[in-house]
Amino acid sequence: MTNETPHFLFLFSDTGGGHRSAVDAIIEAMQLEYPDGFSAEKVDFFKQYAPPPLNFAPELYPMMSKNPTLWGMNYHLSDGKRQVALAMRAATPYYYIAVRKMLNEHPSDIVVSVHPLMNVPVRQVVHRRKLPFATVITDMVSIHTFWFDAKADLILVPTEQARQRGLELGIDPKIMQVCGLPVANKFCQNTRAKEVVRQELGWPADRLTLVLVGGGEGMGPLEATAAAIDNAELPVSLVIITGRNQKLKERLETRCWKIPHFIYGFVQNMPELMAAADVLITKAGPGTISEAFITGLPVILYNRQPGQEEGNVLYVLSEGAGSWAPEPAMVVSVLKNWIHHPDRLIEATEASRSLARPEAARQIARSLMGLVKAK
Ligand code: UDP
Repeated sequence: MTNETPHFLFLFSDTGGGHRSAVDAIIEAMQLEYPDGFSAEKVDFFKQYAPPPLNFAPELYPMMSKNPTLWGMNYHLSDGKRQVALAMRAATPYYYIAVRKMLNEHPSDIVVSVHPLMNVPVRQVVHRRKLPFATVITDMVSIHTFWFDAKADLILVPTEQARQRGLELGIDPKIMQVCGLPVANKFCQNTRAKEVVRQELGWPADRLTLVLVGGGEGMGPLEATAAAIDNAELPVSLVIITGRNQKLKERLETRCWKIPHFIYGFVQNMPELMAAADVLITKAGPGTISEAFITGLPVILYNRQPGQEEGNVLYVLSEGAGSWAPEPAMVVSVLKNWIHHPDRLIEATEASRSLARPEAARQIARSLMGLVKAK
């Protein structure tokens, strides 16, 4: 491959929606920064190349994450340098043929991983081919040891807390950069008034508008939370995005609703839906939270995955950008508080906006290009 217009291979997987959104945002930023100066492709490594049972990871993820206790136990027991070294030693021969096949079929000038679970084995083969290997971390604050490969050429992290975690794990500070989490350019572009966007979407223009979303898979007690808001008959419009959870969408559509409501499955226009909202109610997914910051939306976190999303809750709370409400009744009481004290809603909105990193994707694009050009 030639380094004049370098070819980028991005590795991700559809475990949730965040990894895909992050890769898309980086490729989009590269197109903006280097319109004719690169080419790129993305590969869902688990689905397309990993041997069984890892190739079922995208299907297994929603099932496994339905059991938070088991998920949390797995996460914490495997989180540590010794455990990860052992797991990687066991997994590397198992991955080896798959990684070689993938690199043969997708030759590139650089490999960028946007997923925690494949970094060491992929980097080993990539380095044997004398190519650079970079990781873009898409968890926000609680970063599993799996993400950090001390021999990567570059590790791009979203927050200072993530960098500190890398330092604790012995990562050389010279290979880490704090860039923020990559978010699609459309989230950064909206300048239209909420009321105008609402009218276009067919939502009431003059009601406080809540968007309720549970990541790409519609996770957590989304249905109970929606029902509690409806039963409270708050003066709001409720927009529910069920993601890939089609059954949940069908159940919600049969409910007799008391308040104006709009139910969507997996949407492609999240920037527009957020731009029309006043409040985001979400599980603590890092992608969705970062998008909310850029849109300037206060967040009510109704659920979090144990392990990787625990730190996101603390981050939002410590910065005053929203509330933690793990019971549907708590979500309702936060909403009532904000409805009765609009000044508190404004404060949380401003705190959320102050955490925005709209430059993140472009900064990542520049760092990756810098790496490939330097090699
Ligand atoms: N998302 C989307 N359409 C949907 C639901 C979610 O585009 O219908 C996007 C959302 O905007 C975000 C990502 O999916 O970019 C979810 O990422 P997050 O890290 O919040 O959670 P995950 O699904 O990875 O657990």
